[in-house]
Amino acid sequence: MKKMTYRDFDSYLKQYPSADGRFGEFGGQYLPPELMPAFKEIDDAYETICHSAQFISELRRIRREFQGRPTPVYHCERLSNKLGKCQIYLKREDLNHTGAHKLNHCMGEGLLAKYMGKKKLIAETGAGQHGVAIATAAAYFGMECDVYMGEVDIAKQAPNVTRMKLLGANVIPVTHGLKTLKEAVDAAFEGYMKEYKDAIYCIGSAVGPHPFPKMVRDFQMIVGQEAREQFVEMTGILPDAVTACVGGGSNSIGTFVPFLDAPVEIYGVEPLGRGSGIGDHAATMAYGTKGILHGFESYLLQDEKGEPLPVYSIASGLDYPATGPEHAFLRDAGRINYVTVSDEEAMEAFYLLCRLEGIIPAVESSHALAYAMRYAKEHNTGSILVTLSGRGDKDLDFVVEKYGLGEQFLKNL
Ligand SMILES: *Cc1c(COP(=O)(O)O)cnc(C)c1O
Repeated sequence: MKKMTYRDFDSYLKQYPSADGRFGEFGGQYLPPELMPAFKEIDDAYETICHSAQFISELRRIRREFQGRPTPVYHCERLSNKLGKCQIYLKREDLNHTGAHKLNHCMGEGLLAKYMGKKKLIAETGAGQHGVAIATAAAYFGMECDVYMGEVDIAKQAPNVTRMKLLGANVIPVTHGLKTLKEAVDAAFEGYMKEYKDAIYCIGSAVGPHPFPKMVRDFQMIVGQEAREQFVEMTGILPDAVTACVGGGSNSIGTFVPFLDAPVEIYGVEPLGRGSGIGDHAATMAYGTKGILHGFESYLLQDEKGEPLPVYSIASGLDYPATGPEHAFLRDAGRINYVTVSDEEAMEAFYLLCRLEGIIPAVESSHALAYAMRYAKEHNTGSILVTLSGRGDKDLDFVVEKYGLGEQFLKNL
């Protein structure tokens, strides 16, 4: 396809996605016929309600008073000086209420549900981060909440299960198949099919059938919009590059889209895990092929039959075998570069940020930071803005058990 530069993005948001939810050849809506009316209802409601002045002003108030937005942009002076002359800046989504960016789209989806007169939010969760965000939104709006979660994940993620229950959600164990995220997605769709008149399905990232990739992108764009304004205010110019980690792709697409029409390099960071073998990583853009999963077309890690391959990353929020369709489009258009970072590189960045800046990042976010550190060393000039998607409290037990206090990463300090 024709390569695009930043000059081609003036009217991008008007053109993409198309009315049928396509980003070029990616995206779309692959659904069982029984679910078509439910998704049409969400699409119609989204297009009318979300552009109303009342919706926009209520969402602004929620972001300010409940979520604590705007989150700051922070200049990592000590970390930057350690690496050379290129300056690293963080967009602090770890300071968003509940400690990560996911609440940005969950509050938007919850508000849409309220305007549509729905009484219940339905979602699936893997590691439990999306479940906690959606349970938070349900509590805020006074709605019921069903979160489907594999039995295996329930056993592994006890603190998040407790959080969801404290917030009033019903955590529904999924007991078939491998009892993890994939089965939970199927179960959540089935649950939704039964009660879509009273409920709305809330997806966890910029993936799934139209209109979810668009809706989640739109709600997450607050990250990039704020960051662009704040960065220019702080430094007088735009950053040379922006970067964020890519799981399903929500914090990254929200960061990137407001920079598409600016002369700024953009880097999406995928998890290389233990290496490039099957089952050792979740680097969809690096190793994936075109296909359909969970109702949308994109790049996937799949076998010859189209079955998703096993994936792995030290960051449980990044181990999804697909990436949102808008990422696939912008990669093929040549506007966004996708790079990979291994478990070890991410962990080095994790420990360095703790020591040098007093910030404990999520292991997911540490992937983006690790790439920014690589960029800073290679360029030795200019600046790079990193979205720090979340805080690391949720990862501490696991990280310390595996790597202790990180002495092996801090030798060169
Ligand atoms: C869920 C999660 C991610 C990955 O999700 P995206 O949709 O790719 O943004 C990244 N960072 C944190 C802290 C998360 O909780």
